[in-house]
Amino acid sequence: KGIVMSGIRSTGMLHLGNYFGAMQNYVRMQEDYDCYFMVADLHTLTTHPDTSELKANVHRVLAENIACGLDPHKVALYCQSHIPETAELYLYLNMLAYKGELEKTTTFKDKARQHPENINAGLLTYPVLMAADILLQRAAYVPVGKDQEQHLEMTRNFANRFNHRYGEVFPEPYAFNFGEQLVKVPSLDGAGKMSKSENQNATIYLADTDDLIRNKIKKAKTDAGPTEPGTPKPDYIENLFALMQLVSQPDTLAQFEKNYNDAAIRYGDMKKQLGEDMVTFIAPIREKAEAIRQDEKYLREVMEMGAEKARKSAQATLEKVREAMGLKYY
Ligand code: ATP
Repeated sequence: KGIVMSGIRSTGMLHLGNYFGAMQNYVRMQEDYDCYFMVADLHTLTTHPDTSELKANVHRVLAENIACGLDPHKVALYCQSHIPETAELYLYLNMLAYKGELEKTTTFKDKARQHPENINAGLLTYPVLMAADILLQRAAYVPVGKDQEQHLEMTRNFANRFNHRYGEVFPEPYAFNFGEQLVKVPSLDGAGKMSKSENQNATIYLADTDDLIRNKIKKAKTDAGPTEPGTPKPDYIENLFALMQLVSQPDTLAQFEKNYNDAAIRYGDMKKQLGEDMVTFIAPIREKAEAIRQDEKYLREVMEMGAEKARKSAQATLEKVREAMGLKYY
């Protein structure tokens, strides 16, 4: 069985981007692969130093993953900080990561721009911590959205540097999606991607109420529509179609495509339809997650079970790492 590893930060409510970029693939992979899925609570600290909401958010990420169909008996579903081995591998990999390449990382530049008051070393070395999570499980497949592509390339670089210097320990991990391309779910304002902690009004969360979903979609940016048949779509209109492709029936999408191409589209109607299809998609997940979130005892069992499995394989990897590095003195 191939080994799969991925993580989601506990920075807030999960959204459609997390679902289509990551969780949908987790669920599809759980039958046929050896899966490790993690709540990345340590990564959260790089941008969210206030920990007052952390516990609730960790519980939320677990509950929302389970509500989307992840079975904690089939996969290791665990919390990053329960695997102390991560810190040790992170330390070794930091010696193989160069300041210049870390400073060039797109997510570092973005987050540094968004939070100029807190450009900490943990943020700079975020890709190294991510590499430690993945390499610790010796994973080959990493289901992630498009925004993580560069981090995966860096993980491969760190793995190759390690293997080259100390001997072959790590497989090369690749970003994975069942479709041909990695997914990017756009935000409703036409600028960037949906995200947990930025752009909250332009992101559809799995916990949003039916009315909130309808309202957010209603407010999405549109224009008066094409005046000539066959006009190319502006980005923000392209995004609405992209969202429709994710949650609506194929013939609904085809009808609106046709209306667009005939220059006969009414965006009010399209947004109404998209809102209803989105509600149909999200409401059952929201209700299930809400019930799971109340059951703290169950969530604790899930975390303990997941950590036990993830630590076992992490310890085996670290043995190999220390051996290869020559850190065994007796
Ligand atoms: P934050 O706002 O805390 O940075 P985020 O919403 O970007 O959070 P992460 O926890 O960094 O989410 O990522 C979890 C997973 O969801 C990753 O695999 C990431 O690629 C995927 N993902 C996040 N946003 C999107 C999106 N808009 N489209 C597709 N995949 C996404």
